[in-house]
Amino acid sequence: MNNKLYGNLIFELSKAGREGYSLPQNPYQHSVGELPPAVCRQQEPLLPECDELTVVRHYTNLSHNNFGVNDGFYPLGSCTMKYNPLINEEIAAMKMFTGLHPLQPADTCQHALELYFRLQESLAELTGLSEFTLNPCAGAHGELTGLMVIRAYHQSRGDTQRTKVIIPDSAHGTNPASAAVCGLEVVEVRSLPDGTVDVDDLRQVIQSAGADTIAAMMMTNPNTLGIFEHAIPDITRLVHDCGALMYYDGANLNPMLGVCRPGDMGFDVMHINLHKTFSTPHGGGGPGSGPVGVRQGLETFLPTPRVVFRDDMFHVETGPYEQSLGSIGAFFGNFGVMVKAYVYILSLGHQHVKQVGPLATLNANYIKESLKDVYELPIGGLCKHEFVFDGLKDKSTGVTTMDVAKRLLDYGYHAPTIYFPLLFHESLMIEPTENESKETIDGFIQVMRQIAEEAKNDPEMVKTAPHNTPIGRVDDVLAAKHPIVTYKQMVNDKN
Ligand SMILES: *Cc1c(COP(=O)(O)O)cnc(C)c1O
Repeated sequence: MNNKLYGNLIFELSKAGREGYSLPQNPYQHSVGELPPAVCRQQEPLLPECDELTVVRHYTNLSHNNFGVNDGFYPLGSCTMKYNPLINEEIAAMKMFTGLHPLQPADTCQHALELYFRLQESLAELTGLSEFTLNPCAGAHGELTGLMVIRAYHQSRGDTQRTKVIIPDSAHGTNPASAAVCGLEVVEVRSLPDGTVDVDDLRQVIQSAGADTIAAMMMTNPNTLGIFEHAIPDITRLVHDCGALMYYDGANLNPMLGVCRPGDMGFDVMHINLHKTFSTPHGGGGPGSGPVGVRQGLETFLPTPRVVFRDDMFHVETGPYEQSLGSIGAFFGNFGVMVKAYVYILSLGHQHVKQVGPLATLNANYIKESLKDVYELPIGGLCKHEFVFDGLKDKSTGVTTMDVAKRLLDYGYHAPTIYFPLLFHESLMIEPTENESKETIDGFIQVMRQIAEEAKNDPEMVKTAPHNTPIGRVDDVLAAKHPIVTYKQMVNDKN
């Protein structure tokens, strides 16, 4: 509960003359007068003056305003906010992992290199690809690395005119961004009304771009609408016939785990977000890990350093890999994330990994079917781990997706992904993940129905939500473009 006694800012609690600290006697005999005036303050620093208990309570109360997967339901779509079991943290925090230095000799950190190596192998097995690098530090970093592998492959064959990447209009925004950063041109392919790639449009896109200018096609499957791309065999054949490669965005691989593998579907290069599919908390920018896998024949282009097993020992190698991209970041990537992912994979084991996909799919479909009479479902049928509503069914109330999302905060739920994908005006994208209990999901369904009811009976109340959070509606644009993160009031107070 937010205790209103404690102001939002520590400065607002300040009382002149209050002290909450005790410093040891200054052991040095300097006095301020000895310092050159140029380095001295002209004024006392404007610091809040509070007693110790006020400070402790203030920050403890602020910490209670956090919201994460450990606090409540977090149905963010295209982002797989997976519960992070504490055993992951416990093991990642062990001194044997946190005390490592990236430059220490390989014979002093065989345990860490073995974990690294075994995670590479587990990912290869789960995806049906030949080899993985764990170096990329995020999904988007993985996309860039994967596209660089594809570019290096074409260049190694003298195919330098391949500068275009085909990307479906439903793709995650990082796909076109990564292609652009890699110096490649984005060519968009349309989706059919059922949300899947329009294969006829793909044929036309290839023809008008010129088959020998295509470097790759990037796909997400199930796509960002949560729909399984049934035409994958036709699509991969078309793209491979051009001499281009297939890239798989496996940021959210959970609906596929143990059920089917991108390598078997004909994909050549992919990335996985360990910080989505294999637990590990994320949000706020990291740390992440976006390992990249390649099919046989492309291993030679992967970045360095590489962790290999030779002569009964694990080694870190940077060469000789003449065709390698070289380094794509500092050292090995975010090792702590890898420890958590590996622990998660081991805890699931061979048997339970097969239940991840079906359970994620069941949970998403259960919510979709339970709400589709009150929320607009533009694409029906079976979804995979996530799905998209196009706002409330009853548009006459004027209540938007934004309003629904804000009202959910009042009920203690994190909002789903909103206004993405861009295919619909009022996108509301929900992913429950496989970890959630039926009771949790039923509670969410009940609240979503309640909000639909409120939209009818008291639309103004929904439009002005949230009402129970410490801060109400913010101006999204101002908050993003001009965030005020320092306190200026004190200066005015003193003047
Ligand atoms: C999250 C996500 C990405 C990007 O991953 P980051 O780690 O945020 O860079 C790419 N594609 C899809 C489908 C995603 O959901």
